[in-house]
Order: sequence, then structure tokens, then C-alpha cells
Amino acid sequence: MTHVVTEACIRCKYTHCVSMCPVDAFREGPNFLVIDPEECIDCTLCVAECPVNAIVPEDELTDGQREYLALNATLAKAWPRIVEAHPALPDADEWAKVGEKREWLEASGTSHTSVASPAIRQAPIPTVR
Ligand code: SF4
Ligand code: SF4
Repeated sequence: MTHVVTEACIRCKYTHCVSMCPVDAFREGPNFLVIDPEECIDCTLCVAECPVNAIVPEDELTDGQREYLALNATLAKAWPRIVEAHPALPDADEWAKVGEKREWLEASGTSHTSVASPAIRQAPIPTVR
């Protein structure tokens, strides 16, 4: 089994979770983090650290979250390891209130910085549902 980063992390990327992981299983993309399922040992330490409850054990994923299992596995192979927390994206608090963010997931590219690209910064924040 593994733990999985789900939709709530998109465009928030607070990174509180990263420093808790004893095996450095997190990988960082432009506006989302994932967990490498081949490294996660299911210690659960990261779960309580996430302020938006984005980290879910594989066997507790809802139907709506299930696609993130494969997404974490795939993106973990493409993105670099992240081992230290850094400041969240500038508008993370606004995006934390948004429920449906799947369309905003940037699945390509890499980023070690907390600063979003200009295109990302200019994207409107959807109405909270
Ligand atoms: S703490 Fe939660 S929102 Fe922040 S990077 Fe980790 S999973 Fe994403
Ligand atoms: S459950 Fe444990 S091993 Fe897995 S990602 Fe979270 S902190 Fe790391």
C-alpha cells in the first residue's frame, strides 16, 4: 500500500508534509506534490501535517480520488525529490478553499521554487463551492 496526495494539494503545495517523511518519498511538481509509492512505508506521519487533508491512505481513497493513485505513481517518476519544506505558493490560502481543482494540475515540468510562473499567478481563482 501507499499514501497518496490528492486534489486538495493542487495550487497549495504548503509542503508541511515533506519534512515529516522518514524515507523522503515526496516529489515536487510546479503546483502539486506526489508520493512515490515505491518508497512510501505507510508510516502515516505526513497525514496530520497537511492543512488541507490532501494525503490519503490508498485504501481510503474515494471514487473521486482514485485517479490520484496512478497520478502519484506516474508523476513521481518524472519529478524531483523534495526533502525540505518551503513557503507555500503565494495564493495558496485562496486555492485551499477551492474544492474542484483537477483542471489546474500541471503534470509536466519541474519546480524547486515556491514562486509560481506568471501564467499561474494570473489564473483566476474559481468561486468557492
Ligand atoms: S502539506 Fe498538503 S497541501 Fe502541502 S504539499 Fe503536502 S500534501 Fe500538498
Ligand atoms: S506515509 Fe510516511 S512514508 Fe509515506 S509519504 Fe507519508 S511520511 Fe512518507
